[in-house]
Amino acid sequence: MSNVIIALATPPLKGALAIIRLSGDGVFQMADSLFSKRIGGIQEKTIFYGTIKNSAGKDIDQVVLLAYPGPKTMTGEDVVEVIPHGSMLIVNEIIEAFLGKGAVYASRGEFSSRAFYHGKMDLVEAEAVNDLINATTIEAKDLALKSLSGKASKLFRPIEQRISELYALIEVGIDYPEYTDIEEASETKIASEAKAIIALVDELIQNGREGRIIKEGVKIALVGEPNVGKSSLLNALLKEEKAIVSAIPGTTRDVVEGDLNIHGIAIHLLDTAGIHETENQIEEQGVKRSQKMIENADVVVLVHDGREEELSQQEKDIIGKADGKPTIICYNKEDLLEDKEDGKLYISALFGNIEPLKEAIFKALSLSEDAFSKPSLSNPRQMGLLLSIKENLTQAGTDAENHLPMDLVSVSLEAAYHAAKSLLGEEESADIEDEIFSRFCVGK
Ligand code: GDP
Repeated sequence: MSNVIIALATPPLKGALAIIRLSGDGVFQMADSLFSKRIGGIQEKTIFYGTIKNSAGKDIDQVVLLAYPGPKTMTGEDVVEVIPHGSMLIVNEIIEAFLGKGAVYASRGEFSSRAFYHGKMDLVEAEAVNDLINATTIEAKDLALKSLSGKASKLFRPIEQRISELYALIEVGIDYPEYTDIEEASETKIASEAKAIIALVDELIQNGREGRIIKEGVKIALVGEPNVGKSSLLNALLKEEKAIVSAIPGTTRDVVEGDLNIHGIAIHLLDTAGIHETENQIEEQGVKRSQKMIENADVVVLVHDGREEELSQQEKDIIGKADGKPTIICYNKEDLLEDKEDGKLYISALFGNIEPLKEAIFKALSLSEDAFSKPSLSNPRQMGLLLSIKENLTQAGTDAENHLPMDLVSVSLEAAYHAAKSLLGEEESADIEDEIFSRFCVGK
């Protein structure tokens, strides 16, 4: 028996209509006691139009009421959606009436978690609900929709199957140690099969990296010495006056953030105070922050004043800090230059000539052509598990190749097996599920 949960599924704002969602055993009887028409006993999902009353019998509003008998519903339980006029006064009165009848407020993600527990969706699909709601670009939304329909889970199922089979094979070897030929066969098989599975997992990890870029975007640090035009560039990119542009070196001390969209990728810009050695304390904080910013960024853009042909030592040091991250050097203030060198990226932040930089940023992400259409397992939990599977399979393969005892090989295989199971939520501890669903909005 699950109790009836209730939540407002639409934003808590004034609008034409609102949707209040309820789910759980006995929700039809509960609604019957407050609604002017009879709901109980329906076999099919049904739309009603009638009056909702409070427990004292006073009319609250004329509403549309949708009743869905379980188990063919989103949560797997009986579900009711009440659609009143979109006033928060009305919404609150209706919710209070249901609370009075024994409904309880849903916690974050509780509708989705009930769907998961009733086998309506696996964990990857449930997580996609959250991605769908949080998507900031059409591309990210489309990709989340693919995961929601099970396409990302489907990619992983054959891998999960092969890991389970491999684990089963080794368990047989351990259970029947007298068959040494089984053991020898197992060693070769484990080593080669682990390699084959790792290749598939690697592909998923690569897809995941790209999926993550599309879903979440990338962080870009604009760095450089004072007065090279970082704030002007930030403004030009965001096309609005967010950072203070000043001709006095070193006056942009705060980290200003802003987002833009380049070919469907959300670009989160982190503006940084100039990195340079200084005695000035406030400036020093800025320098530290810039370094931190580089650490946090996915791509580093070094802005250089194009009037200086060569990079200074400090600028070279900055690039050194990027430590392997894609780094773009752009030569700003091209409007002041007469001679330009081939192969250098020239821009003018002041005059809005920044397209070449945008293209360079997109190129630096090195997305494959089908990145936008490929479903992927990409959130940190999923990526973490994929990496753990890879690591454990690698270990198992190496141990098998080195003829280590089978029960030792089995330890890593078992870990890979459990990671594979928990990826789709087939073997999750309640704590982790709670953690996942708590990231949702109430009403989802
Ligand atoms: P920051 O200290 O690196 O953030 O540099 P600012 O964006 O504050 O710019 C410093 C000065 O350079 C300002 O006077 C800007 O107007 C000027 N500036 C920035 N970009 C350009 C450009 O593309 N062309 C020209 N001519 N001046 C620029």
